[in-house]
Amino acid sequence: MNLDLGEINKCARCGACRSVCPVFEEMGWESFNTRGRILLMKGLMDGQRPDSDILDSLNTCTTCGICTDGCPAGVNPPQLIESARKQLVSLGVMTGEQEGLSRNIFASGNTFGDPADRRAWLVDRIPVLEKADYVYFVGCMNSYRYQETAANTFRLLSRFGATLLPSEQCCGSPLLRTGFDAGRFMNANVEQIKRVGAHTIITGCAGCYTTLRKSYPADFRVMSVPEFLAEHISELELKPLDLTVTYHDPCHLGRHNQIYEQPRTVIEAICSLKEMKANRRNARCCGGGGGVRAGYRDLSLRMAKRRLADVPEGADCIVTCCPLCIRNLNDAGGRAIDLVDLVTRALEPSL
Ligand code: SF4
Ligand code: SF4
Repeated sequence: MNLDLGEINKCARCGACRSVCPVFEEMGWESFNTRGRILLMKGLMDGQRPDSDILDSLNTCTTCGICTDGCPAGVNPPQLIESARKQLVSLGVMTGEQEGLSRNIFASGNTFGDPADRRAWLVDRIPVLEKADYVYFVGCMNSYRYQETAANTFRLLSRFGATLLPSEQCCGSPLLRTGFDAGRFMNANVEQIKRVGAHTIITGCAGCYTTLRKSYPADFRVMSVPEFLAEHISELELKPLDLTVTYHDPCHLGRHNQIYEQPRTVIEAICSLKEMKANRRNARCCGGGGGVRAGYRDLSLRMAKRRLADVPEGADCIVTCCPLCIRNLNDAGGRAIDLVDLVTRALEPSL
């Protein structure tokens, strides 16, 4: 194994990350927290064989980034963990779930291995322009699991001239997070963005957002839906709703990209916002990211349940900006909705 030894050695083993790692909170074993994972990676570099316990340790990191944020030595553990996963996969060492997820994506271009039309949600007669400045990048979750949210988002963004990619593919996030190469899908999307001539890509998924922004060439601007809506809030005629909601910060929008205020601006233009107990940079992970929902469903739902305990009294629902968070929080018994669906309710009379 050839990992970044300098980064590994930066870790002072102080254990500050032990108290924040959401996986450690559930599992209680050192090998399931940040520091333990770093020690195991050091072992792999020293020639230790990657057995199933080591694979479970490395593959249960949700890449939430709360450890990075609080690390006094400036270590970036999820980045190290992703590079360890990548090297192990290149050696053919992976879990069955990793293999299944990658097989689905390589066979179908989407996370679910679903052969159905990716645009089945597009039932409205909204024109899909061949050329446009803005592209709505839908993502696998909204294309296949939250089709009403996809339709609501496109209806909203098409007011500003947004179009769709002719044949959108998975952005590559699930592959990159779990150690696989996503070049084929990324190149296919980039080629289509060029053909459309867009200067801005807008997405409503936190995983797509961080991937488009950090792993794609910087030839176009990448915006999240809440950023776009906050920027155009004065152009939307929103009627107030008699609701009190709370907001869950998706890790890949919040800690990874510092998008904290824009979704709150949009919510507060519509209804009352009551913050979750842990919010913004301290927000707990929903438990779904980093391939953990796909590979360790029970653990993932336990983390989601713990996140639900942060919901304040009197909140009618949780609003968030990531379909994976919505899925995981709802599967754990929560009531989470997408920001766009809230905005759509506030817009309804003028639609
Ligand atoms: S907080 Fe940083 S330095 Fe301390 S044990 Fe964790 S990764 Fe290492
Ligand atoms: S990124 Fe999150 S889940 Fe992964 S080691 Fe750090 S705190 Fe734990």
